Amino acid sequence: MGKLVLGCIADDFTGATDLANNLVRAGMRVVQAIGVPATPLDADVDAVVVALKSRTIAPAEAIAQSLDALRWLQAQGARQIYFKYCSTFDSTFTGEVRGNIGPVTEALMDALQCDFTIATPAFPDNKRTVFKGYLFAGDVLLNESGMQNHPLTPMTDANLVRVLQAQCTRKVGLIDHTVVARGDAAISERIAQLKSEGISIAIVDAVSNDDLLRLGPALAKMPLVTAGSGVAIGLPANFGLSPSSQASALPAASGLRAVVSGSCSLATNRQVLDFIQRGGAALAIDPLRIAAGVDVAAEALAWAAPLVGKQPVLVYSTAEAGAVKSVQGRLGVEEAGAMVERAIAAIARGLVDQGVRQLVVAGGETSGACVQALGIAQMQIGPQIDPGVPWCHARAEAAKAEQGAGVHIALKSGNFGGDDFFTKAFTVLA
Ligand code: ADP
Repeated sequence: MGKLVLGCIADDFTGATDLANNLVRAGMRVVQAIGVPATPLDADVDAVVVALKSRTIAPAEAIAQSLDALRWLQAQGARQIYFKYCSTFDSTFTGEVRGNIGPVTEALMDALQCDFTIATPAFPDNKRTVFKGYLFAGDVLLNESGMQNHPLTPMTDANLVRVLQAQCTRKVGLIDHTVVARGDAAISERIAQLKSEGISIAIVDAVSNDDLLRLGPALAKMPLVTAGSGVAIGLPANFGLSPSSQASALPAASGLRAVVSGSCSLATNRQVLDFIQRGGAALAIDPLRIAAGVDVAAEALAWAAPLVGKQPVLVYSTAEAGAVKSVQGRLGVEEAGAMVERAIAAIARGLVDQGVRQLVVAGGETSGACVQALGIAQMQIGPQIDPGVPWCHARAEAAKAEQGAGVHIALKSGNFGGDDFFTKAFTVLA
């Protein structure tokens, strides 16, 4: 093998998929690993994204996990490391802890003996732009976007130089849009100037994909890049890679088709309705019956068994806000969530045992539970269904599937995807 060039460390699961999807679209073949793998990389790819769950944990723990991922990526031969965080730049915040993006960045710089890196969450495709060091979410500053009220990771300052400086011992500076607009040479010159001023980390302005593409070449020799998923579009070219359908090629899909949904987001409610209105075979599961001790997973699998050989089936707990609130009021928010996640994960497992090899999962937390129940540790990233949601492929042994050529799986978090997502997904694969 020995072709791996880019090793990525993502601080959460859906963020990892988002990054992997961008890299694939820019021409890289990518595997996403769930957690730090225990075994060597077993695929011929250009990049690996290790998905951690470190965004809201204590800095010391986030550092330990990230360094673990780094060591594994280095052992696989990665030539450049990409630390990926959220495009809203938020992470653990307790008042005392000002965030863990800075501490993780500095620990990676130490480990890589890297004297300079960049930081930019800019992702124009997703309406996250950075101008004069200030992060905008859509048309407003980050601290007016609702993120100032986030229950876990509030962001009350949009000035990223200040935000990151508060998390770092190294000095933080800015590469602003006037420099970025002039391209590679100007950016490199600015980096040399910042270094001479004792600055080791620079926030970089970017308001368009063109800015990110201009930034790419200036990052070619950096051992470490830190960013949201946007910067990824400018990196594959540094390794001689350009967009191609080869990058998203997966083994041919076969086997039966199913959708499981534990997402109650608005988009998912529309997708469930659309699937039913098209005449799809669908079964709702009721959290209150799970709580009453009924084995709804067994019921759902018995319902699916005679149908799934003929057409795609959908099993869902998806419900509208009022119904969800009422269930949560009776069972407790966490208890209800965990109970439904367990049931849907058992249904996903059972469907694969029935021969399903093309599985769509709706819901971020639900996806985590299903991937775990299926024993999936690594997935190759394939073609995009809708923005941010690609088909993935896990090998047969990884999915504990007894026969066949592995499982194609699409993990859709809450508000992603058009109304026809549950139908469109299977046509993309066909
Ligand atoms: P999303 O990506 O839309 O946020 P998640 O799967 O991350 O979806 O979260 C949805 C949560 O709601 C999960 O914990 C799930 O188990 C729970 N849930 C699903 N259906 C119901 C329901 N009908 N009532 C209460 N909770 C539910």
